[in-house]
Amino acid sequence: MRISLQIEKAELGPIGTNAYLLWHEAEKEAVLIDAPPDCEKWVFPFLEERSLSLKELWLTHGHWDHMGGASKVIKNETPVVGHRADQMLFEQPELMSTFAIPGMELEPIKITKWIEHGDSLNLFGHKVEVFHCPGHCPGNVIFWIEDCGVCFVGDVIFEGSVGRADLPGGDFSVLEQSIRNQVYQLPEETIIYPGHGPNTSVRREKAGNPFVRPL
Ligand SMILES: [Zn+2]
Repeated sequence: MRISLQIEKAELGPIGTNAYLLWHEAEKEAVLIDAPPDCEKWVFPFLEERSLSLKELWLTHGHWDHMGGASKVIKNETPVVGHRADQMLFEQPELMSTFAIPGMELEPIKITKWIEHGDSLNLFGHKVEVFHCPGHCPGNVIFWIEDCGVCFVGDVIFEGSVGRADLPGGDFSVLEQSIRNQVYQLPEETIIYPGHGPNTSVRREKAGNPFVRPL
């Protein structure tokens, strides 16, 4: 199988949030997953160096550290993808300002394409499946690209850890179900690209994640 998709990861913003650029060399286009504050300082030089244009922005969820830089990287026509359960966070990010860095400017973002559990997106010919995984926040979605063996999970699960469930809209028992019923059902070799920290795999977390054990 020829994998035409390239993935670049960067840890950005004041609390080290992962952003991912997925791009296709021949099509000269890229999709950005999550837009931490100041991400334009990484995104634009990266795109320019490779003569890529930004095709879409996909937001895993509405927390400020994942969407605070969105308005700076999108142009008028760039589609922005997100889940409606986080609409309030996308449109009024100041609601989370008590959890953000004091004095930081949080610009709202308009989602132009609402996605639901079970939706499929097309990424340069690869099928991307969307699963709704609430618990860390109401609208976290994960993006699974089966034929590349990768899944972008936002703040659902991390290497040896899981997303906080104590923020407004969080619920640990819901998060636990999301992880057991969605993440742990993916093929074990799937590489997990989380919203913070190093990559991991479904196999590794099922074997050793101390917070959520598979049933
Ligand atoms: Zn979050």
